Amino acid sequence: MGYNDDIDRMIEAQDLTLPPEREPQRQYYFIKKCREIVKKESERLGRPLYAKSVCMGCQMNARDSEKLAGILETIGYQMTDSEDADFVIYNTCTVRENANNKVWGRLGYLNTYKKKHPHMKIALCGCMMQEPKVIEKLKASYPFVDLVFGTHNIFKFAELMDVVFAQERIPKGHPVMPFGVSQGMVIDIWNETDKIVENLPVERKYDFKSGVNIMFGCNNFCSYCIVPYVRGRERSRKPQDILREIQQLAKDGVIEVMLLGQNVNSYGKTLKDPITFAELLSEVEKIEGIQRIRFMTSHPKDLSDELIQVMGRSTKICRHLHLPLQSGSSRILKKMNRHYNKEQYLTLVEKIRKAVPDLALTTDIIVGFPGETEEDFQETMDVVKQVGYDSAFTFIYSKRTGTPAAEMEHQVPEDVVKDRFDRLLKEVQHGAAKRAQALTGKVETVLVEELNEQDQALVTGRLSNNFIVHFPGNSDLIGKIVKVKLKECKGFYFYGEAAE
Ligand code: SF4
Repeated sequence: MGYNDDIDRMIEAQDLTLPPEREPQRQYYFIKKCREIVKKESERLGRPLYAKSVCMGCQMNARDSEKLAGILETIGYQMTDSEDADFVIYNTCTVRENANNKVWGRLGYLNTYKKKHPHMKIALCGCMMQEPKVIEKLKASYPFVDLVFGTHNIFKFAELMDVVFAQERIPKGHPVMPFGVSQGMVIDIWNETDKIVENLPVERKYDFKSGVNIMFGCNNFCSYCIVPYVRGRERSRKPQDILREIQQLAKDGVIEVMLLGQNVNSYGKTLKDPITFAELLSEVEKIEGIQRIRFMTSHPKDLSDELIQVMGRSTKICRHLHLPLQSGSSRILKKMNRHYNKEQYLTLVEKIRKAVPDLALTTDIIVGFPGETEEDFQETMDVVKQVGYDSAFTFIYSKRTGTPAAEMEHQVPEDVVKDRFDRLLKEVQHGAAKRAQALTGKVETVLVEELNEQDQALVTGRLSNNFIVHFPGNSDLIGKIVKVKLKECKGFYFYGEAAE
C-alpha cells in the first residue's frame, strides 16, 4: 500500500458531522467534503473536472506544487497540462520583480477564459502573496480571483477550497453569511507560523525521485533576498517525520531523494532536541532502497567539517554540491550580509575538494550588486578561475523592493552590469567546459529520468555529479540506474552509450 493509499483510507474514515480541531484530520475532513462537491459538479457537467497547478518558483515551490496537486487529485480533479481548466492555481515566486509581472499578465488571460466559463476557479498562493501591496492590487483590480493564500498555510488548501465552494451555495445578496464566509475573494495570509502539518496527499512528478522538505523559512537576511520576509523564520521538521517520509518513499519505489531547505546546513538547530544536518544525512543513508541523496541549498557560512566528512565517506550522497558564492569580493559579501569572506570561501572549497575529489561544484553569482566596482568584480572573476565551477547560475542584480539592498546607494548602471555579466558568463562557460571535457571517455552511473524530448530513440538521465547525459534507450530504463560511457561532451551535457 502506498503513501497516498494510506491517507485515502484515513480521509474515507472521517466523519463529516463537524470539522476536527487537530491536523491533519481537519484537512482530511475538508478533503472529503470537497470530494463530494466535485463529484456532484462532475455529474452535473457529465465529465471529469480538470485542474492545472502552475509552479513558478524554486525547488521549494516545486515541492509545494506537488502537495497542491496531491490535494486537488485526492479531491477528485483530473490534472491537465492546459490552463483552460475548471480549477487553476498559480504557486507564485517573488525573488525577482519580473516574476510578479508574469503573474499579472497571466491573470488577464485567465479572466478572459473565466468570462466564458463562470464556474472556473482561480487560486493564487506562494511567496508573492505574502506581500501586502500585491494583495491590495488583487483586491482593487482582479476581483475574479477566487482564492488567495500564502506560504505558511498551504496545508489548509482543502479547507480554503471549501470556503470558496460554500460561497457558491449562498444566493447573491444574501444578508447572512454562514461560517463567517463573505462573498468575493477568499484571502487567508499568515505572517508567521511555527506549524508544520505532516501526512497530506502529494502528487509526485516522478515515481523514482522526490524532493523532501527538511525545513522551511530562513534566518539569514541576505540583504538582497526577500525569502525571510515571505517564507518566515527557519523551522526544521522533526527527524523522525523526515525519515518516516523517506522510508515510505523508498517503499513506493523512490531511489533518489533531494533534501530541501533554504539553508540545509543549519537544519535542526531550532529543534527541541537539536540534531545536525550531517547526522540527519547519515540516518537517511541507512534507509534501504534509497540509492542517491541530494540536498539544496548549502550556505557556505554553515557548512561544517562534520558534513564534509559524511560526504567524503558516503556511497549514496551524490557527488555534487551547490555552494552559492554570490560575490568574490569580501567588501560586497559584507554588504550582502553573507557572513563569510573571499578567503573563507576559498578555504572551504579547498577542504571539500580534498575530502571529495570527484565532487562537482556549482554556484550562484550576482553581478552588479549596489556599489560593486570593477575591482570587486575582478575578485569574483578570480574566485571563478580558482574554483573552476562545473556550472554557475549567474544573475544580474535586480532591485527587489522590500529588501535592504534596494535602498542602497550606488546602484550600478545597466550597461556596466551587462558588460560584467558577459565577461563572467564567458569565464564560467570556459571553466565548466574544461571540467566536463575531463570526464569524456569515462564510464559513469546514470539515473534515467525520461525519454529525450527531441529524439525519442534517446533517454535522458543524470550523473551523480548532476551532469545531463543523453544515450540510446527506451522507456523501460526510466527510473533505473545504468552504466553509461560518456562519448561526446557538448559543454553542459554529454552523449553516451550504455556500457553493459
Ligand atoms: S540564505 Fe540568504 S539568499 Fe538564501 S534564502 Fe536565506 S536570505 Fe535568501
